[in-house]
Amino acid sequence: MTAPFEVSGTDSGPAPSHLTTTQQQRLRSLLFEQLEVQRAALEEHDETLDGATHDVVDAAVTSERELAAAFVLFTRDTAAELLAALARMDAGSYGRCEGCGAVIPYERLEALPETRFCVSCPRHGGLFG
Ligand SMILES: [Zn+2]
Repeated sequence: MTAPFEVSGTDSGPAPSHLTTTQQQRLRSLLFEQLEVQRAALEEHDETLDGATHDVVDAAVTSERELAAAFVLFTRDTAAELLAALARMDAGSYGRCEGCGAVIPYERLEALPETRFCVSCPRHGGLFG
């Protein structure tokens, strides 16, 4: 690939070349939205982990706690991806496939704003397909 992603010094700031300012703002707000959703979900499940279970048998409690623990891990992972995406946006490398360097279409970014990979790469969509 002879397409290094470099930020031109003539721009007012780092920006993915294929995204308009409006698109970037939209994606940024999407990332913040999802981050807020993850944060809320995490708090809810942290409460479950604290043992806020009532009329369930022991086995079910164990199962629920295991599920909650798995969910917390998953959520933290997702939140980390969202934060990483915001960091890439600030760095100007957002919207580039980390697998092949291709530009990720806005439509895909809108559906999966934290994605690092294009649809062609085998590692794409690790979290949500
Ligand atoms: Zn790719």
